[in-house]
Amino acid sequence: MLNIQITKTTTPKAKPADESQLGFGKLFSDHMFVMNYTKGQGWHDARIVPYQPFQMDPACVVLHYAQEVFEGMKAYRSAEGTIQLFRPDCNAQRLQDSSDRLCIPPIPTEDFLQAVKALVEVEKDWVPHEEGTSLYIRPFVFASDVGLGVHASHEYVFAIICAPSGAYYAEGINPVKIYVEDDYIRAAPGLTGYTKCGGNYAASIKAGELAEEQGFAQVLWLDGVEKKYVEEVGSMNIMFKIAGKIYTAPCTGTVLPGVTRRSCIELLKEWGYEVEETRVAIEDIMKAGHDGTLEEVFGTGTAAVVSPVKELDWKGDKVFIGGGEIGPVTQRLYDTMTGMQWGRIPDTKGWIVPVCKG
Ligand SMILES: *Cc1c(COP(=O)(O)O)cnc(C)c1O
Repeated sequence: MLNIQITKTTTPKAKPADESQLGFGKLFSDHMFVMNYTKGQGWHDARIVPYQPFQMDPACVVLHYAQEVFEGMKAYRSAEGTIQLFRPDCNAQRLQDSSDRLCIPPIPTEDFLQAVKALVEVEKDWVPHEEGTSLYIRPFVFASDVGLGVHASHEYVFAIICAPSGAYYAEGINPVKIYVEDDYIRAAPGLTGYTKCGGNYAASIKAGELAEEQGFAQVLWLDGVEKKYVEEVGSMNIMFKIAGKIYTAPCTGTVLPGVTRRSCIELLKEWGYEVEETRVAIEDIMKAGHDGTLEEVFGTGTAAVVSPVKELDWKGDKVFIGGGEIGPVTQRLYDTMTGMQWGRIPDTKGWIVPVCKG
């Protein structure tokens, strides 16, 4: 059990009047969770304090060598007025797996859950009310040693911030165009593809910007060795429904093991679909697109839940999926996942963790 000291702000911000204008990650709540790690002492000084800047030495390790990991999750306000989380234990475990790869001391699952819940309870009035809105939660850990030597830091900061966020599909679910990246890569065996670390994103920005300039929403990454097999999109895993069967890349080191991915696979299997976690060549996907057996393509991730794909462009070849409309399986996954998250349908899976009354 952490002994969390709580210091409330004396100057609370006004809550946003128009929740349709929230967007994502632009506005932050009044408080943050912070805890420090010192070698020999372990994690200490757990506290919730007013949201504020960090004091940082210019030689702070994270600024130079990116020794950092993070998580992304949401708190939802149910119709009955409960503030709840979706499978937060999965985020706790993944943060430990990411930390291990980046030589960052792990945060025990119980401490992670206690910290998230304590902060969400303090910030419960920051969980927005409108349909599809949520409180986005961003836990992160960074190396805070001062010095330019390349080695594992002896000091770390674990912090959690919260951003009230708007409905992802405020204008309705819009299928997107995806650029299949054939030049840059995101991950390769032995690297950090399976972790949520800032460095993965830093290396991906250029491809994303170039694709965006050409009117694409995201890039689809191929495997880093042969550029032959599909792996995932920007910040989402990706699934393909081909001739009735669902395919997605296996999480064997280069793909981020998404909580949404895992949950969708469980639901799909329960509904009687065959789901293959296997390497699929982009060539075969394009072929299926041309011969009419590529029925649905969708990304999965906490932000959008599912994001239908209407077009894939690979080396100048294009395939169009589902006539630009969201497919029935994609829609069913969206309705079921969001139904549980916002408490509109019963949680038959034990995935919902209530935090407090709203
Ligand atoms: C976070 C993330 C995902 C999705 O994970 P969820 O747990 O479903 O939100 C997929 N790919 C990458 C690269 C990510 O960073």
